[in-house]
Amino acid sequence: MKLAIIGGGISGLAAAWQAHQDGLKFDIFEAKDRFGGVIETQYTEDDQVVLECGAESCLRSKPELLDLCHELGLEDEIISTTPENSGAFVVRDGQLHPIPQGFRLMAPSAWWPFLRSDLISWTGKLRAGLDLVLPVKERGDGPEESLSQFVTRRLGAEILDYLAQPLVAGIYGADPQSLSLEATMPLFQRLEQEHGSVIKGLRALGTETRAQGARYNLFFGLKRGFGSVIQALCEQLPKESLHTGAAVDKVEKIDSGWQVTVRGQKPQKYDAVIIALPAPRAATLIESFAGDVAASLKEILYRGAVTVNIAYDRAEYLHWIPRAYGFVVPAGERRPILACTFSSRKWLHRGSEKQGIVRTYFGGPTMEWANTASDEDLLALSRSQLEELLGIDAEPLEYRVHRWPVGLPEYKVGHRQKVQQIRQSLESHSGIALVGNYLDGVGMPDCVQLGRKAVGQVSAALV
Ligand SMILES: Cc1cc2nc3c(=O)[nH]c(=O)nc-3n(C[C@H](O)[C@H](O)[C@H](O)COP(=O)(O)OP(=O)(O)OC[C@H]3O[C@@H](n4cnc5c(N)ncnc54)[C@H](O)[C@@H]3O)c2cc1C
Repeated sequence: MKLAIIGGGISGLAAAWQAHQDGLKFDIFEAKDRFGGVIETQYTEDDQVVLECGAESCLRSKPELLDLCHELGLEDEIISTTPENSGAFVVRDGQLHPIPQGFRLMAPSAWWPFLRSDLISWTGKLRAGLDLVLPVKERGDGPEESLSQFVTRRLGAEILDYLAQPLVAGIYGADPQSLSLEATMPLFQRLEQEHGSVIKGLRALGTETRAQGARYNLFFGLKRGFGSVIQALCEQLPKESLHTGAAVDKVEKIDSGWQVTVRGQKPQKYDAVIIALPAPRAATLIESFAGDVAASLKEILYRGAVTVNIAYDRAEYLHWIPRAYGFVVPAGERRPILACTFSSRKWLHRGSEKQGIVRTYFGGPTMEWANTASDEDLLALSRSQLEELLGIDAEPLEYRVHRWPVGLPEYKVGHRQKVQQIRQSLESHSGIALVGNYLDGVGMPDCVQLGRKAVGQVSAALV
C-alpha cells in the first residue's frame, strides 16, 4: 500500500511516523519549506537561548507526545516546569493577582487559598460556593451549553470573567460564550453529573490523584524546544518520503484509489490519503467528491495568534520578573494583550547566564489586528504592557515576532455533533482520513493520537 499524507504539521508527521513503523510506503507533502506547522523553535543569535514561537508546553496526562519523544530517543531532552516558581497571575484593575493555588480552570479544588485570594470579591466567592448545593442540570435537558453558560450557572459571573475566561482564552484563543463545553472541557460536565458539584468533583479527583502518588508536574517541555520533535522526525523518517515546498492542489478519487496533484507536478496515484491540514484548506481538497463534508469543514473558524519573544539582560530580568509562570488578561480589562509567559522562570532551560526571556501572546476574536500589526508595533505594545503591569522599563536585547494567522480552531457549541457528522459522511469514501487540531482536541498530544490512529484506519479500509 502507498499512502499520501498531506500537511507536515505534527498531525501529518505523526501519521508519517506510524506509517514508517508499520512498514508502509508513504509520501508526506508540506507546502512550506519546513515541517512543523504551528510548532516552531528558533534560537537567539548566539544560539544559546531557545525561543518557542508556537506551542511551549505539553500536558503529561495525555501521554501521546511524551511516548513519541521516547520512541524518537528524546528522553534526555524532556524537562519539567520549575516547581519553585509555579503559579501565575490574573490582571484585575491593572494589578497582578495570584491565581489561587489549586484553582483548576473554572473552579477551586482547595478552599483556603481561594478564600484568601484578593482576586475574587466575597460576593463572588459566596456565589462560587453555591456550586456545592445547586441542582444538577440533567444532560439532554435543552440545548448544549457553552462554556460561559456552564461556568455562570455553577460558579457565577465573577469566576467566569476573572478566571475561566482568561485561562481558557490562553488555551483556545476564543470567547467562552461560543465555546462548546462538551468539546473543550468535558471533565467539568462529568464532575457535575457524577458528584453533583464541580468543586466536590475536583476535590475527589485531587484525593484520587494523591492516593495514586501522582506527581504535581503537570507539563513538560524539551530542552531545545518542541522543534526537536520535528527535527528528530525529519531525521528518522526516510528522506525520499519527505517533501517540502510541495503544496497539494488536488485530490481526486479514481477507480484504483486516489490521485494527488502537487502544484507544478504531474498527478501521482496512491491507495490511501490522510489529509492533515487546517479545516478550510482540507475542505478545498475534498470538495469535488465530498461536498457535504467540505461544507462542514468550512464552518470551522480559526483564530490567529501572535507571539513575541523578548530577551532582556539577565540581571534586569531577575529584578523585574516575578517568580511565576506568567499572567493572563481578562477580556473585560480591555488591554491589548492576551497573556504573557515568564519563560525563563517557568523553564530552567529557557534563557542563559546573560539573557532572560518573556513571551507575550496576542490572539482570539478581539485581537485579529495583531496578525497585521508590524513587528515594531507589537514590540512597543508588549513593552508598554510589561511596563504598566510589571514596571519593567529595560531595553530588550533581542526580540522575535511570530504570526500564526491560521492559529487555533474554535470548538463552537455543536462541535462534537459536527465532527461526528463529518466522520460518518466520510465513511462512504474508503481509504481517506482527515486529521488535525480541529477534530478531537487542539493540544499536540491530541494531534499525535489522531495522526497515528488514522494510518490504521485507512489501511484497514483497504484490506
Ligand atoms: C501560538 C500557539 C501556541 C500553542 N501552544 C500550545 C501548547 O503550549 N501546547 C499544546 O499542546 N498545543 C499548543 N498549541 C496547539 C498545537 O500546537 C496545534 O494544535 C498543533 O501543532 C497543530 O498541528 P496540525 O498538524 O494539526 O496543524 P498545523 O500545525 O497547522 O499543520 C498543517 C500543515 O499543513 C500545511 N499545509 C497547508 N496547506 C497545505 C497544502 N495545500 N499542501 C501541503 N501542505 C499544506 C501547513 O503549511 C502546515 O504546516 C498552540 C498553537 C498555537 C498557534
